Amino acid sequence: MTEGQAKNVAILGSTGSIGRSALEVIRASGGRLRLVALSAHTRLTEAIGQCREFQPRWLVATSPMAAAAADFSNLPASTECRVGVDELERMAGSPDIDIVVSAIVGIAGLRGTLAALAAGKRVALANKESLVVAGSLVMRSAREKGGKIIPVDSEHSALFQAMAAGRRDEVQRIILTASGGPFLRHTPEQLAGVTVDQALAHPTWKMGPKITIDSATMLNKALEIIEARWLFDLPPEKIQVMIHPQSVVHSMVEFRDGAVIAQLSPPDMKLPIQYALHFPERVAGVAHKMDWTQRMRLDFEPPDPEQFPAVELGLEVARAGGTAGAVLNAAKEAAVDGFISGNMAFHEIVPACRAVVQHHTFDAAPDLDRLWELDAWAREEVNRWVCTS
Ligand code: NAD
Ligand code: MG
Repeated sequence: MTEGQAKNVAILGSTGSIGRSALEVIRASGGRLRLVALSAHTRLTEAIGQCREFQPRWLVATSPMAAAAADFSNLPASTECRVGVDELERMAGSPDIDIVVSAIVGIAGLRGTLAALAAGKRVALANKESLVVAGSLVMRSAREKGGKIIPVDSEHSALFQAMAAGRRDEVQRIILTASGGPFLRHTPEQLAGVTVDQALAHPTWKMGPKITIDSATMLNKALEIIEARWLFDLPPEKIQVMIHPQSVVHSMVEFRDGAVIAQLSPPDMKLPIQYALHFPERVAGVAHKMDWTQRMRLDFEPPDPEQFPAVELGLEVARAGGTAGAVLNAAKEAAVDGFISGNMAFHEIVPACRAVVQHHTFDAAPDLDRLWELDAWAREEVNRWVCTS
C-alpha cells in the first residue's frame, strides 16, 4: 500500500449494519478507498444493487442456496459472481486487495478473517467472534504472516487509539465502557418477562439483531473482554467494565502514572470504520461529531454483578483461554437463536451459556478442527437445554 494511492477494499458481509456503514465511508472517501469485492449471504438483491453502484470486481454469494434462487441479471458485466465460502477465502487472500473489512456476523466470520491474515492483509475487524473463538490462532497468524488487525468494534478502536499515548508495558488497566442496554436497573422479575422486541430496542446504538440482543444480556461485553484480552495481549486482571449509559466515551486506558486516556465521539460506527480504513491517517469523513454547544453529562458506574452476571462470565472465559471462548460463543449464538424463536426466556440465556462452558472438555491449545467440533457440541448442548427446560 503506497501512500497517496487508492486502497483496494473488500467487505465481507456488505449487507449488514457494519457493511453498509463501511460503504458509506468508502462513498465519502473521494476515491481514496475503492471497493473491489464484497460478500453477502442472503440479501443478494441488495448486494447486486451495491455492485451496480460501486462496480467491484467480485461479488461472493456465501450461501449456495440463496445464490441458486437469486436473479443476477442486473449484475454489472464488470463484476464476477462467485459462490460459496471457499470463494470467500480465495477472494480475501487475493493480491489485488489491501484491506479486508471482516463484518460477517458470528463464527461464520472466522474463515474470512483467517484467510485475509494468512495473506498478510490489513483486517478492519468488526467480527469480534474471530478473536473470541480463535484468538490465539488469529493473533499468531497475524504475527507470522505480517497481517495487521485494526479493530472496528468501537471500544477496541477507542483502546487502540488511547494506547498510542504510552507504551504497552505502562498500561495499568483498560476500562471497557458499556451502555447497559435497554434493561439497566430492571428487576429479576422484569427481566424474566422480557420480549424479543424489547431486547431489540437498544437505547444508543443501531446494530444488527444478534449483537443488539447480546448488548441487552451484556454477553456482548463478555465477548469484548475476551476480544481485548487477545487483541492487546492483556491479562484479564487488567480489564474492567464500567456502565456508561450515554455511549460517548468508547473506552479508556489507564497508565501506571494514573493518567486515563479516553476516546469520545457520538455513538456512530462510521468513525471506527473510517479510522480503520484510513489508518494511520485521520480524515474528515462522514461520522457524526460532538456538539460542544450543548450542556452534557457523562455518567459512569460499575456493573451490578447480580444484574449482569455475563461480565464475570466473560472474565472467567478470558482467564481460561483455550477452548472456553469458542464454547461460550457457540452457546451464546444458539441461546440467542432460541430466544428469538421463542424457545428460551431472556433471563435463561446467560445461565445456559455458563452451564455449557463449565461442562465442556477443556483444551488449553486447540487447533481449528477442535474449535469447530466444540462449536457444534455447544450448540447441541444449548438446544438440549431448550428442550428440557
Ligand atoms: P448484521 O446481522 O447486520 O450483518 C451480518 C452480515 O453477515 C450480512 O452481510 C450477512 O449477509 C452476513 N452473514 C450472515 N450470516 C452469514 C453466514 N453464515 N456466512 C456468511 N455471511 C453471513 O450484523 P452486524 O451488526 O453488521 O455485525 C457484524 C459483525 O460486526 C458482528 O460480528 C458484530 O458483533 C460486529 N459488530 C457490529 C457492530 C454494530 O454496530 N453493528 C458494532 C461492533 C461490532
Ligand atoms: Mg462494541
